[in-house]
Amino acid sequence: MVLADTHTHLYSKQFTHDRTEAVERAIHAGVKHLFLPNIDADSIEGMHQLTESFPNNCFPMMGLHPCSVKENYLEVLEKMKTLLDTNKYYGIGETGIDLYWDKTFIEQQIQSFRIQIQWAKEYQLPLIIHCRNAFNEILEIIDELDDENLKGIFHCFNGNAEQASHILKYHNFLLGIGGVLTYKNSGLDEVIKNIPLEKIVLETDSPYLAPVPYRGKRNEPAYITEVAKKMAEIFAVPYEEITEKTSHNALKIFEIK
Ligand SMILES: [Zn+2]
Repeated sequence: MVLADTHTHLYSKQFTHDRTEAVERAIHAGVKHLFLPNIDADSIEGMHQLTESFPNNCFPMMGLHPCSVKENYLEVLEKMKTLLDTNKYYGIGETGIDLYWDKTFIEQQIQSFRIQIQWAKEYQLPLIIHCRNAFNEILEIIDELDDENLKGIFHCFNGNAEQASHILKYHNFLLGIGGVLTYKNSGLDEVIKNIPLEKIVLETDSPYLAPVPYRGKRNEPAYITEVAKKMAEIFAVPYEEITEKTSHNALKIFEIK
Protein backbone atom coordinates (compact mmCIF):
# COMPACT_ATOMS: atom_id res chain seq x y z
CA MET A 1 0.00 0.00 0.00
CA VAL A 2 1.39 3.40 -0.96
CA LEU A 3 0.02 6.89 -0.53
CA ALA A 4 1.24 10.30 -1.62
CA ASP A 5 0.59 13.50 0.33
CA THR A 6 0.63 16.10 -2.43
CA HIS A 7 0.53 19.08 -0.07
CA THR A 8 2.19 19.24 3.33
CA HIS A 9 3.96 22.07 5.16
CA LEU A 10 6.05 19.68 7.27
CA TYR A 11 8.87 22.23 7.45
CA SER A 12 6.65 24.62 9.44
CA LYS A 13 7.24 25.49 13.09
CA GLN A 14 4.35 23.32 14.24
CA PHE A 15 6.66 20.35 13.62
CA THR A 16 9.75 21.76 15.35
CA HIS A 17 9.69 19.12 18.08
CA ASP A 18 8.87 16.00 16.08
CA ARG A 19 9.55 16.63 12.41
CA THR A 20 11.65 13.48 11.89
CA GLU A 21 9.12 11.40 13.79
CA ALA A 22 6.28 12.84 11.68
CA VAL A 23 8.08 11.74 8.48
CA GLU A 24 8.68 8.31 10.02
CA ARG A 25 5.03 7.99 11.06
CA ALA A 26 4.03 8.88 7.50
CA ILE A 27 6.35 6.27 5.97
CA HIS A 28 5.11 3.70 8.46
CA ALA A 29 1.52 4.48 7.44
CA GLY A 30 2.49 3.91 3.78
CA VAL A 31 2.77 7.60 2.87
CA LYS A 32 6.05 7.38 0.98
CA HIS A 33 5.89 10.59 -1.05
CA LEU A 34 5.53 13.99 0.62
CA PHE A 35 5.29 17.04 -1.62
CA LEU A 36 6.22 20.33 0.02
CA PRO A 37 4.77 23.58 -1.36
CA ASN A 38 6.79 26.63 -0.42
CA ILE A 39 5.23 29.69 1.30
CA ASP A 40 7.66 32.62 1.23
CA ALA A 41 11.36 33.60 1.38
CA ASP A 42 11.63 32.49 5.01
CA SER A 43 10.27 28.97 4.55
CA ILE A 44 12.80 27.95 1.88
CA GLU A 45 15.68 26.98 4.17
CA GLY A 46 13.64 24.69 6.39
CA MET A 47 12.08 23.06 3.35
CA HIS A 48 15.53 22.42 1.84
CA GLN A 49 16.79 20.95 5.13
CA LEU A 50 13.89 18.54 5.23
CA THR A 51 14.32 17.41 1.64
CA GLU A 52 18.07 16.91 2.23
CA SER A 53 17.30 14.71 5.24
CA PHE A 54 14.72 12.63 3.36
CA PRO A 55 15.65 12.81 -0.32
CA ASN A 56 13.58 9.74 -1.22
CA ASN A 57 10.44 10.88 0.56
CA CYS A 58 10.31 14.69 0.59
CA PHE A 59 9.99 16.67 -2.64
CA PRO A 60 10.31 20.48 -2.58
CA MET A 61 8.42 23.00 -4.66
CA MET A 62 9.11 26.68 -5.24
CA GLY A 63 6.66 29.56 -5.16
CA LEU A 64 5.09 32.42 -3.23
CA HIS A 65 1.83 31.93 -1.32
CA PRO A 66 -0.85 34.56 -2.10
CA CYS A 67 -1.15 35.49 1.61
CA SER A 68 2.58 36.30 1.60
CA VAL A 69 2.36 38.69 -1.36
CA LYS A 70 3.34 42.16 -0.07
CA GLU A 71 4.87 45.34 -1.57
CA ASN A 72 8.20 43.59 -2.16
CA TYR A 73 6.74 40.56 -3.97
CA LEU A 74 8.68 41.14 -7.19
CA GLU A 75 11.99 41.03 -5.30
CA VAL A 76 10.95 37.81 -3.57
CA LEU A 77 9.91 36.27 -6.89
CA GLU A 78 13.23 37.25 -8.43
CA LYS A 79 15.10 35.38 -5.70
CA MET A 80 12.84 32.35 -6.20
CA LYS A 81 13.43 32.41 -9.94
CA THR A 82 17.19 32.20 -9.34
CA LEU A 83 16.63 29.16 -7.12
CA LEU A 84 14.49 27.55 -9.82
CA ASP A 85 17.41 27.89 -12.20
CA THR A 86 19.89 26.25 -9.84
CA ASN A 87 17.93 23.64 -7.85
CA LYS A 88 15.59 20.75 -8.55
CA TYR A 89 11.98 21.46 -7.66
CA TYR A 90 8.92 19.35 -8.36
CA GLY A 91 6.24 21.99 -8.60
CA ILE A 92 5.48 25.72 -8.67
CA GLY A 93 3.64 27.02 -5.64
CA GLU A 94 1.82 27.37 -3.76
CA THR A 95 0.39 30.31 -5.61
CA GLY A 96 -3.12 31.52 -6.37
CA ILE A 97 -5.42 34.18 -4.94
CA ASP A 98 -6.79 34.52 -1.40
CA LEU A 99 -9.42 37.19 -0.81
CA TYR A 100 -10.58 35.77 2.50
CA TRP A 101 -8.02 37.30 4.83
CA ASP A 102 -6.98 40.49 3.13
CA LYS A 103 -7.77 42.22 -0.16
CA THR A 104 -5.08 44.92 0.17
CA PHE A 105 -2.73 43.29 -2.32
CA ILE A 106 -5.24 41.86 -4.75
CA GLU A 107 -3.52 43.37 -7.79
CA GLN A 108 -0.13 42.09 -6.64
CA GLN A 109 -1.63 38.65 -5.88
CA ILE A 110 -2.97 38.45 -9.41
CA GLN A 111 0.35 39.56 -10.90
CA SER A 112 2.29 37.08 -8.74
CA PHE A 113 -0.10 34.30 -9.82
CA ARG A 114 0.37 35.16 -13.49
CA ILE A 115 4.16 35.15 -13.16
CA GLN A 116 4.10 31.74 -11.46
CA ILE A 117 1.83 30.32 -14.17
CA GLN A 118 4.52 31.32 -16.68
CA TRP A 119 7.13 29.56 -14.54
CA ALA A 120 5.02 26.38 -14.51
CA LYS A 121 5.00 26.46 -18.30
CA GLU A 122 8.66 27.38 -18.64
CA TYR A 123 9.94 24.69 -16.25
CA GLN A 124 7.21 22.18 -17.16
CA LEU A 125 6.22 21.77 -13.51
CA PRO A 126 2.76 21.39 -11.98
CA LEU A 127 1.21 24.61 -10.69
CA ILE A 128 -0.19 24.33 -7.15
CA ILE A 129 -3.18 26.63 -6.83
CA HIS A 130 -4.44 28.01 -3.54
CA CYS A 131 -7.92 29.42 -4.04
CA ARG A 132 -9.87 31.06 -1.25
CA ASN A 133 -12.88 33.28 -1.91
CA ALA A 134 -11.42 33.80 -5.37
CA PHE A 135 -12.86 31.13 -7.67
CA ASN A 136 -14.03 33.53 -10.34
CA GLU A 137 -10.79 35.49 -10.35
CA ILE A 138 -8.71 32.31 -10.66
CA LEU A 139 -10.87 30.60 -13.29
CA GLU A 140 -10.82 33.75 -15.40
CA ILE A 141 -7.00 33.73 -15.43
CA ILE A 142 -6.69 29.99 -16.11
CA ASP A 143 -9.34 30.27 -18.85
CA GLU A 144 -7.00 32.74 -20.50
CA LEU A 145 -3.69 30.92 -19.94
CA ASP A 146 -4.60 27.22 -20.01
CA ASP A 147 -2.90 25.24 -22.77
CA GLU A 148 -1.18 21.89 -23.29
CA ASN A 149 1.96 23.24 -21.59
CA LEU A 150 0.20 23.92 -18.30
CA LYS A 151 -0.61 21.32 -15.67
CA GLY A 152 -1.47 21.59 -12.02
CA ILE A 153 -3.54 20.91 -8.94
CA PHE A 154 -6.37 22.92 -7.43
CA HIS A 155 -5.17 22.34 -3.89
CA CYS A 156 -7.76 21.84 -1.13
CA PHE A 157 -10.58 21.87 -3.64
CA ASN A 158 -13.88 22.62 -1.93
CA GLY A 159 -15.95 24.10 -4.72
CA ASN A 160 -19.26 23.00 -6.18
CA ALA A 161 -20.04 20.61 -9.06
CA GLU A 162 -20.10 23.41 -11.61
CA GLN A 163 -16.67 24.69 -10.56
CA ALA A 164 -15.29 21.14 -10.59
CA SER A 165 -16.49 20.51 -14.13
CA HIS A 166 -15.08 23.88 -15.23
CA ILE A 167 -11.64 22.87 -13.88
CA LEU A 168 -11.80 19.40 -15.43
CA LYS A 169 -12.26 20.95 -18.86
CA TYR A 170 -8.74 22.37 -18.66
CA HIS A 171 -5.96 20.35 -20.31
CA ASN A 172 -4.15 18.94 -17.29
CA PHE A 173 -5.62 19.95 -13.95
CA LEU A 174 -6.38 17.72 -10.98
CA LEU A 175 -8.32 18.32 -7.78
CA GLY A 176 -6.47 18.04 -4.45
CA ILE A 177 -8.74 16.53 -1.81
CA GLY A 178 -7.97 16.62 1.92
CA GLY A 179 -9.44 16.54 5.40
CA VAL A 180 -12.45 18.72 4.54
CA LEU A 181 -13.91 15.64 2.82
CA THR A 182 -14.34 13.99 6.23
CA TYR A 183 -16.20 16.95 7.78
CA LYS A 184 -19.92 16.59 8.32
CA ASN A 185 -21.95 18.81 6.00
CA SER A 186 -18.96 19.87 3.90
CA GLY A 187 -21.01 18.72 0.88
CA LEU A 188 -17.75 17.78 -0.83
CA ASP A 189 -18.67 14.07 -0.92
CA GLU A 190 -21.64 14.86 -3.16
CA VAL A 191 -19.42 16.87 -5.51
CA ILE A 192 -16.52 14.45 -5.83
CA LYS A 193 -18.46 11.22 -6.18
CA ASN A 194 -19.15 12.17 -9.80
CA ILE A 195 -15.53 13.01 -10.59
CA PRO A 196 -13.32 10.38 -12.26
CA LEU A 197 -10.73 9.02 -9.83
CA GLU A 198 -7.95 9.77 -12.29
CA LYS A 199 -8.62 13.49 -11.71
CA ILE A 200 -8.05 13.33 -7.94
CA VAL A 201 -4.96 13.49 -5.75
CA LEU A 202 -4.94 13.36 -1.95
CA GLU A 203 -3.31 15.87 0.37
CA THR A 204 -3.27 16.87 4.04
CA ASP A 205 -2.31 20.57 3.93
CA SER A 206 -0.75 19.70 7.29
CA PRO A 207 -0.44 21.20 9.88
CA TYR A 208 -3.89 22.55 8.91
CA LEU A 209 -7.27 20.92 8.24
CA ALA A 210 -6.87 17.64 10.11
CA PRO A 211 -9.40 15.02 9.05
CA VAL A 212 -11.91 13.43 11.42
CA PRO A 213 -11.17 11.94 14.00
CA TYR A 214 -8.30 14.44 14.47
CA ARG A 215 -10.30 17.51 13.47
CA GLY A 216 -9.15 20.61 15.38
CA LYS A 217 -5.77 19.06 16.20
CA ARG A 218 -2.50 19.50 14.34
CA ASN A 219 -2.63 17.60 11.06
CA GLU A 220 0.24 15.45 9.74
CA PRO A 221 0.86 13.38 6.60
CA ALA A 222 0.13 10.01 8.29
CA TYR A 223 -3.48 11.16 8.74
CA ILE A 224 -4.04 11.09 4.97
CA THR A 225 -5.18 7.49 5.49
CA GLU A 226 -8.41 8.93 6.96
CA VAL A 227 -9.06 10.86 3.75
CA ALA A 228 -8.38 7.74 1.68
CA LYS A 229 -10.80 5.73 3.84
CA LYS A 230 -13.52 8.33 3.32
CA MET A 231 -12.84 8.30 -0.43
CA ALA A 232 -13.22 4.50 -0.51
CA GLU A 233 -16.58 4.87 1.24
CA ILE A 234 -17.80 7.57 -1.17
CA PHE A 235 -16.67 5.75 -4.32
CA ALA A 236 -17.70 2.35 -2.92
CA VAL A 237 -14.39 0.80 -3.97
CA PRO A 238 -11.68 -1.00 -1.97
CA TYR A 239 -9.33 1.19 0.05
CA GLU A 240 -6.36 -0.15 -1.95
CA GLU A 241 -7.92 1.08 -5.18
CA ILE A 242 -8.04 4.62 -3.78
CA THR A 243 -4.47 4.54 -2.49
CA GLU A 244 -3.11 3.04 -5.70
CA LYS A 245 -4.95 5.31 -8.12
CA THR A 246 -4.44 8.56 -6.25
CA SER A 247 -0.72 7.84 -5.73
CA HIS A 248 -0.37 6.96 -9.37
CA ASN A 249 -1.98 10.31 -10.30
CA ALA A 250 0.36 12.16 -7.93
CA LEU A 251 3.56 10.49 -9.15
CA LYS A 252 2.49 11.08 -12.72
CA ILE A 253 1.82 14.82 -12.39
CA PHE A 254 5.01 15.38 -10.33
CA GLU A 255 6.97 13.11 -12.69
CA ILE A 256 8.42 10.85 -10.02
CA LYS A 257 9.78 7.65 -11.55
ZN1 LIG B 1 -0.71 24.98 1.65
